[in-house]
Amino acid sequence: MGKSKILIVEDEASLAEVLTYNLQREGYEPVVAREGREGLRKAQTHLPDLVILDLMLPGIDGLEICRQLRASHRTAKIPILMLTAKAEETDQVIGFAVGADDYVTKPFSVKVLLQRVKVLLRRASEPEADSDVIESAGIRIDKRGHEVSVEREALSLTPTEFRLLETLMKQPGRAFTRHDLMDSAVGDIIVLERTIDVHIKSLRRKLGDAGQRIETVRGVGYRFRTDKASE
Ligand code: CA
Repeated sequence: MGKSKILIVEDEASLAEVLTYNLQREGYEPVVAREGREGLRKAQTHLPDLVILDLMLPGIDGLEICRQLRASHRTAKIPILMLTAKAEETDQVIGFAVGADDYVTKPFSVKVLLQRVKVLLRRASEPEADSDVIESAGIRIDKRGHEVSVEREALSLTPTEFRLLETLMKQPGRAFTRHDLMDSAVGDIIVLERTIDVHIKSLRRKLGDAGQRIETVRGVGYRFRTDKASE
């Protein structure tokens, strides 16, 4: 097995150096880009196993890089760990919305960062097979059989409802915009954002009590709520 290649996109030279040194010491193969466009290009050509992405960069910023990596098939699945400054809390939220997998706030300890890197790499290398079934709060989705049940009672969902539920449940707690949901559940058919509301309404009704798990996030869209007490 080869070394995991990690792209560091960071304009602060001293930080890039510290990260390079420590990642090397942990047995990774770091590649550095000091500017936004260079970072994007290196991600596309090197296809790293993980990207450590600073938010504020000369050229194009971290959010735009994140968006572009997610938009392309070849780079869509590369885990992205964002580096943000404390004052940029709203940017963290946006970071998740454009597809970052995790973030650390500057200043951070290298130890914490290395742990996050390890977790993300491990998560990415897990076989997709066990994600055929998603189960939470009594709702069970079997992707292979295209079946959904609530408390073992089978439900009949439309393909769009099925994909909506799958999208929400795959990342519990994440707030999806209607636009995100159209992208992943409706595909490239052009629909009005209201259409998502109609599908969600129908999906909630079919789920019965469990439908309350699909929460409306004001000003954003929807999310699947989990809480430990009921699982
Ligand atoms: Ca920076």
